Amino acid sequence: MQSLTIGDVTITSIIERDGPWRTPEEMFPAYDPAVGKRHLAALDPVVFDPASGKMVITYQTFVVRTPKHTILIDTCTGEDKGYAPPMDFPKQPWRDGFAAQGLRVEDIDYVFCTHLHIDHTGWNTTLRDGRWVPTFPNAKYVFHKREYAAWEEEHNKGNNPPGTVFRDNCLPIVEAGQALLVDDDYALDDTVTLTPTPGHSPCHCCVNIFSKGQRAVVAGDLMHHQIQCREPNWSAKPDWDMKLSAVSRRKFFASVADTDTLILPIHFPKPTVGLIRADGDRFNYRFKRD
Ligand SMILES: [Zn+2]
Repeated sequence: MQSLTIGDVTITSIIERDGPWRTPEEMFPAYDPAVGKRHLAALDPVVFDPASGKMVITYQTFVVRTPKHTILIDTCTGEDKGYAPPMDFPKQPWRDGFAAQGLRVEDIDYVFCTHLHIDHTGWNTTLRDGRWVPTFPNAKYVFHKREYAAWEEEHNKGNNPPGTVFRDNCLPIVEAGQALLVDDDYALDDTVTLTPTPGHSPCHCCVNIFSKGQRAVVAGDLMHHQIQCREPNWSAKPDWDMKLSAVSRRKFFASVADTDTLILPIHFPKPTVGLIRADGDRFNYRFKRD
């Protein structure tokens, strides 16, 4: 994504991993190949790789600079986590991307996690002398309190899906006193607020950015692929509650359709940012290229 300006705010992206990833059949249990083929042919060429039959899925962090704060939204998979393939992405691209933006870890004021999954919390923590500590020493980390509680409960039951995400990426932030466990109506200020969109995870949230009458929304994993605008009921396999995720998706799409609200889904490849347009009971996602 090119740098995006919303009023007084700039938004840029740090990419950890890019390229063809999973087939739609693997990703969407409700996938219908005949219907899917028709949609894929009409979608933006950046979202599908016909040679491999795989969807192009990006893993990225958004950097939001407001007049008051430097904010990261979602932190990819991180390093030293010991994740098994295919989640063992190379670490240098994210490090290089962070540095290329002129950032030092001390500069980050807030880290927002749309939800507490493996690929949205990784750089939250760093391994130092055998202990996980917050990567950004001056940052407050914003987690939805019911999202946190749900994963804490899973962790306490020994489930902790997937793997050690809660223990290594989330718990150390709370233990260090750097977490803000917030509710649905949380607003950092009049520039950054949350919209709960549960389903992909227990309390997944979109992050709104408002400035000078303009709005952008970091949509996290509300959708993983452009095809879900055509078929909002095609929930993704990793969704916590596939029915609820479809309800949240439709509700959100309807709320922003045919407005100038800019959408930033974490897993959409460049140019990432786009607009939602209504089309009967379906929607279209139009990438913004200017
Ligand atoms: Zn994700």
